[in-house]
Amino acid sequence: MKRTISSLKLPHLKSTAPMAAVRMPLPKEVLIPCSPMTSHSGVHSEPVVQVGDHVTVGQLIAAEKDRGSSNIHASVSGTVKAIEPYMSGGRKATAIRIESDGKMEKCPDLKLPEPANLDEFLQCVRQSGVVGLGGAAYPVWAKLSAAQKAHIQTILINGAECEPFITSDHRLMLEHGDLIQKGIELLKKYLGSEEYIIGIEKNKPDAIQALKERFRDDPAVKIMELGSVYPQGAKQVLLYNATGKVVEKGQRMASLGVLIINVSSLAKMAEYFVTGMPMVERIITVEGSAVKEPKNLIVPIGVSVRDVVEACGGLKEEPGKIIFGGAMMGKTQESLDSVILKATNAVVIMNQKDAQKAEPTPCIHCGRCVSVCPLGLNPVAFSNAMELPEGMDAQRAAILQKEQVNVCMECGCCSYVCPAHRPLAENNTAARGWIRNWEKAQKEGGK
Ligand code: SF4
Ligand code: SF4
Repeated sequence: MKRTISSLKLPHLKSTAPMAAVRMPLPKEVLIPCSPMTSHSGVHSEPVVQVGDHVTVGQLIAAEKDRGSSNIHASVSGTVKAIEPYMSGGRKATAIRIESDGKMEKCPDLKLPEPANLDEFLQCVRQSGVVGLGGAAYPVWAKLSAAQKAHIQTILINGAECEPFITSDHRLMLEHGDLIQKGIELLKKYLGSEEYIIGIEKNKPDAIQALKERFRDDPAVKIMELGSVYPQGAKQVLLYNATGKVVEKGQRMASLGVLIINVSSLAKMAEYFVTGMPMVERIITVEGSAVKEPKNLIVPIGVSVRDVVEACGGLKEEPGKIIFGGAMMGKTQESLDSVILKATNAVVIMNQKDAQKAEPTPCIHCGRCVSVCPLGLNPVAFSNAMELPEGMDAQRAAILQKEQVNVCMECGCCSYVCPAHRPLAENNTAARGWIRNWEKAQKEGGK
């Protein structure tokens, strides 16, 4: 029976969709973080350069330490000026500051990867430092490595790009269909999956047309037009709308024979096999009411928002809020000194008026937040649990576990529809963090 997954019709606000990605002027310096929640998930990558070293573009500057971390490479040539603390989203990170010499000298050790088998292919992807570019930043090699252990029949390529403002995947699909094709060839050759579905929202008819044309003679590749609804790009929603399959709470996607990969991650992986250059740059959308000339830019990883804004003609108003990602799921940044990370697909800078939040009022028990949740969760229960007084941790944990706060994907639909302007999504994030720490403490016998 056809299920309906709740979703929202949001204003697209994608004014940069017709704008080809242009390379920004070379910045004077970059600051490249090598810590979890910045460049990748997992643990810190270990810096392998020292202050004063001369580095070249694509040179390894921090080495991965586990499956969740990633290799970090210099995005400009020049001199390592500092290895210093960096704050990102309220978390402390370590970052490598490189002063550009203006030459963009390529690392002489780079060569084209030529894997002879699946293991060598995975090792090459690992060396490339490519992580999930849709936001999760989980290393692509680790994802593919897990997939090869399950039998993956279907690779679902996520080109939905459902968030307002962002058009970087859209531009990539229009401008780099060759890399998407190369990525699919690589997956066919080494993973051997039979079916490839590229899911794209209908609000990108030119990208749909271009890819249909490109894969016209390839029966293994299907371009699927999806409704322009939010959160179409969320993996559970995309899975159902593209394949009719449902991943139950707690179930692994691979057990359904499906792997989902973001279209930009696939293309960036392929680029490494075409050029030998690891991940040192990406396309981002720069948008928002405070930005003078919104654009799609090709930027080096580690460039500051300040430099990116400069490349867009500067600001026309005082910034009220700086967001990495879209208006729904993006992460608020501290200042214009924040730097572009591997998974940053957009910088949205709102003016002070647009950044203003309505004051929350008491819940009126309308139930809209529950009915809109694509995963059928109950955000009111999460709020109530978090409001329990100190000393009721066991009860709080029991509610959060029973209501499965851990599966919340923080899509923000519940906050968006709440007539009382309650900060439900923020509360969900806090609740997920709280239960993670509580369960960890329980395991360690601390409570
Ligand atoms: S943020 Fe979480 S609880 Fe709210 S609608 Fe999205 S998935 Fe549901
Ligand atoms: S949408 Fe807002 S007001 Fe309505 S039940 Fe949910 S929290 Fe309460």
